[in-house]
Amino acid sequence: MSVIVVGAGPTGLMLAGDLAAAGIPVKVLERRAEESNLTRAFAIHARTLELLDMRGLADKLAAEGLKVDEVRPHVKGVKGDGVVFNVRHPDSRFPYLIILGQARTEAALAERARGLGVEIVRGAEVTGLAQDGAGVTLTLAGGRTERAGYVVGCDGAHSAVRRLLGVGFSGRAYDTRILLADVRLEADLPLAVNPFMGDDGVVLLPPYGGGWYRATIWDRTGQGIPIERPVAIEEVRDAMLRITGRDLGVAEMRWSTRFLSERRQASDYRVGRVFLAGDAAHVHSPLGAMGMSTGIQDAANLSWKLAAADRGWAPSWLLDTYQPERHPVGRQVLRLTDTLRRVAEAPPAVRAVRPYLFPKIVNHPRVSERLRLMFAGMAVTYPTPGPATATPLAGTRVPDLALTLDDRASRLYEQLGDGRFVLLDTTQSLPPGDDPWPDRLRVLRSSRPLLLGKATTILVRPDGYTAWTGTFPSGEQISTALAQWLSR
Ligand SMILES: Cc1cc2nc3c(=O)[nH]c(=O)nc-3n(C[C@H](O)[C@H](O)[C@H](O)COP(=O)(O)OP(=O)(O)OC[C@H]3O[C@@H](n4cnc5c(N)ncnc54)[C@H](O)[C@@H]3O)c2cc1C
Repeated sequence: MSVIVVGAGPTGLMLAGDLAAAGIPVKVLERRAEESNLTRAFAIHARTLELLDMRGLADKLAAEGLKVDEVRPHVKGVKGDGVVFNVRHPDSRFPYLIILGQARTEAALAERARGLGVEIVRGAEVTGLAQDGAGVTLTLAGGRTERAGYVVGCDGAHSAVRRLLGVGFSGRAYDTRILLADVRLEADLPLAVNPFMGDDGVVLLPPYGGGWYRATIWDRTGQGIPIERPVAIEEVRDAMLRITGRDLGVAEMRWSTRFLSERRQASDYRVGRVFLAGDAAHVHSPLGAMGMSTGIQDAANLSWKLAAADRGWAPSWLLDTYQPERHPVGRQVLRLTDTLRRVAEAPPAVRAVRPYLFPKIVNHPRVSERLRLMFAGMAVTYPTPGPATATPLAGTRVPDLALTLDDRASRLYEQLGDGRFVLLDTTQSLPPGDDPWPDRLRVLRSSRPLLLGKATTILVRPDGYTAWTGTFPSGEQISTALAQWLSR
């Protein structure tokens, strides 16, 4: 086997599907015997939708979920609709976030992976790991072994792979408990994510549609309740009434849990032939709804690099870019969600100024723009790897450019998703028919004059970020860029 993915959560399923799409033999080992039907992550952010779009999944998920493009914080002491935080992304096909239970996203990723030939082995718990220069041997509960060239631990917050590697997971457990509940409300709330901030705590209410909401409740007064005690609907009613100051009419509850979240990050995302991704690499507060999206983005970053390494053409430095590209993103997500947690748990002195400060911060154009991009994963940029030529826009997200190919309208994201780079050229610098590496590169000759900024030629990485740009480059400059990224 070329690659074994441990864990069939959203991260592992995305990664396995990508590897299979690139033609790499891949197997998923999953401890659970059954598919998960837990809600957990409720939101898919814009950049994640774009990555899913490259894989043909986003339109289906967007049609199933509820599109929301505003967050309307109801802060005690602020009158009316004083604070509206818009999460619209004008340059994206997905100018919103989608509210959809995690089980639906996982089901779509699993269906894609299976359709591409991925074997998902359930009831397979990894308990041992040993690696040598040629591969990795995993031991499963029961004593059976499996061997592969590479292993990726996508096995969640309590990752066995991380533990078996001896990788540190520093940080801390928050001592505040969060209560999660999927509830039906009789009250009519704006079609937005609705956080309520009161003296007793915070209630976050994103809508699923049909009157159902995911309630994330941080209740200052309920912190002494044992974590294992089941959540009663009366407790949810009482906490929501006290915190929001309104009777929202909690009519039904279909799922609930008490949750003690943590803030931790793995020190190393790679040890030899073994990688960590998703919650195995980083965990944080669910405020901001960034956990699943960050894991899916880890997978999109790693999959094409592993495929290139398995095929034998990856530049020697390529696999080493996973840590410097994704570790800082994980760190920033930890910081951002921690800031949200601090705002939510504000001590009395901060609560007193919240009604004055909050609208100022959220309505400040530059601050709100930055926050919007950060939450959605649209602000992620990657450093140019040392041996590659640094050019303008390198490492930034490439938008879904409209293309005209052979007189037909197309768009860039339709051309990505199978693990190949895309060279978009408008200058005819590469002679027609010159496709130097068809197994790893798709050459698209577009009739539009300019692609992005002043770039007439763009080398797009398989994950939709810019590798290299040129303005009327010579054929030799293009060949050099291709050789840097696409050959050993
Ligand atoms: C109660 C709860 C609420 C949450 N709410 C939100 C939210 O509102 N918004 C948000 O964005 N995120 C939320 N999250 C986080 C989000 O669910 C995770 O970020 C996301 O599931 C990460 O995906 P993953 O694939 O990396 O890990 P997981 O989804 O945890 O998947 C890991 C998989 O690995 C399997 N596994 C574990 N150990 C082994 C082993 N030894 N061998 C084989 N398989 C193994 C597990 O069974 C599991 O299927 C929540 C999480 C929890 C627990």
